[in-house]
Amino acid sequence: MNQTIEHVASYYAHSANAAPARPPLAGSVRADVCVIGAGFTGISTALHLAEAGYKVAVLESARVGWGASGRNGGQIVNSYSRDMDVIERRHGREAARLLGGMAFEGGRIIRERVERYRIQCDLKDGNVFAAHTAKHLAELRAKEALWRRFGHDALERVDQAGMRRLVDSDQYCGALLDRWGGHLHPLNLVLGEAAALESLGGVIYEQSPVREVVPGAAAMVNTDAGQVRADFVVVAGNAYLGDLIPALAEKTLPCGTQVIATEPLPEALARTLLPGDNCVEDCNYLLDYYRLTADHRLLYGGGTVYGARDPGAIERLIRPKMLKTFPMLERVKVEFAWTGNFSLTLSRLPQAGRLGDNIYYSQGCSGHGVTYTHLAGRILAEAIRGQSERFDAFAKLPHYPFPGGQLFRVPLLTLGAWWYGLRDRFGW
Ligand SMILES: Cc1cc2nc3c(=O)[nH]c(=O)nc-3n(C[C@H](O)[C@H](O)[C@H](O)COP(=O)(O)OP(=O)(O)OC[C@H]3O[C@@H](n4cnc5c(N)ncnc54)[C@H](O)[C@@H]3O)c2cc1C
Repeated sequence: MNQTIEHVASYYAHSANAAPARPPLAGSVRADVCVIGAGFTGISTALHLAEAGYKVAVLESARVGWGASGRNGGQIVNSYSRDMDVIERRHGREAARLLGGMAFEGGRIIRERVERYRIQCDLKDGNVFAAHTAKHLAELRAKEALWRRFGHDALERVDQAGMRRLVDSDQYCGALLDRWGGHLHPLNLVLGEAAALESLGGVIYEQSPVREVVPGAAAMVNTDAGQVRADFVVVAGNAYLGDLIPALAEKTLPCGTQVIATEPLPEALARTLLPGDNCVEDCNYLLDYYRLTADHRLLYGGGTVYGARDPGAIERLIRPKMLKTFPMLERVKVEFAWTGNFSLTLSRLPQAGRLGDNIYYSQGCSGHGVTYTHLAGRILAEAIRGQSERFDAFAKLPHYPFPGGQLFRVPLLTLGAWWYGLRDRFGW
């Protein structure tokens, strides 16, 4: 008997809405589609398919939202980790047109879902990109022009004098406010989406790690105690997939990133720190991101450190970053500190594709996945239903393996992170 795996001790697990513990898979099950992984990608896909009348079975190693989806910063950040200008330069106008046409859709899907299924997840509008340097300001001006070109008209540039309206910190010289961005309680979002899926007849098996996928006209997905036979399989294990499918593992790198949440702050202090109650990310390569929770904690994340799991060590990493931004929080206690893995790709663009005819996957949002995973769910479902133009726009992007193989890619990336850390520090 495998050990039961529960959510990590985070602020999100502490404030999660009630959700049932779903029994593991036992015996044989038939489904139209078997989804591996119950994070945003898996649950979003399953829900789109269930809405279209498909019989869906989801297999999850641990609990719904156990991975990055239930631990992240909760920031609804639009577009992709590499933007349309890079896509246009590297892959041409048509790719940029197609991907640009979907760049703001993930946030809309989230809002539609929250409204349709009445999901309680503390959803708020407004995402601030904050500039430390003149170079960052120029980048934000370019981002604004680019996003407007692709139809985004809810953007506001803020100068240094206007910054205090957004953030009570002297660290910034300006910002871009994206009103289509925002923030939410990500674990409660995915739990709400899972409940919506079940209300439409979808079945989720928790504590059911998939051990093997056997391709075929009807593929077999095997766990220790059972098997799902399905016409289609969707692989949505992202940074936690391990070596289940080696062809997917070599093209992504799981990266750890850490988050802390303070004790609840007096409401007046919380309102002073972030008067617009927006979420904020800075423009550094190794960026800091933060926001308030519904109970007025400051939730602060940043950086990429491998293997930092101990809450004390995480607090020592992140607290100095928080105090640099908000020195007035010196005496405030940190109540939660946790880590999670996101999946990095060499191009920093997400990877979606097919293995054979009927095994689909999407992974590698490179730390920028709350919106993309919701879009991925829709385009994966479209492709399974036979309309694959939008899915193929992603599938056509080349996926490069990381240099250095299994042995050297982590040290190489650590070196890369160190280099980018220097660039952030000295504004190169
Ligand atoms: C700490 C942190 C902060 C972040 N902050 C933000 C943010 O603020 N904004 C943003 O846009 N993005 C953020 N991200 C990235 C974002 O969270 C991810 O891109 C997104 O949640 C990925 O969703 P997913 O469903 O693809 O993967 P996951 O949520 O990781 O889900 C994968 C699931 O698959 C399961 N699984 C894996 N292998 C198997 C198997 N063999 N059998 C069965 N199940 C399996 C896992 O248990 C897991 O539950 C952050 C990530 C982290 C880690």
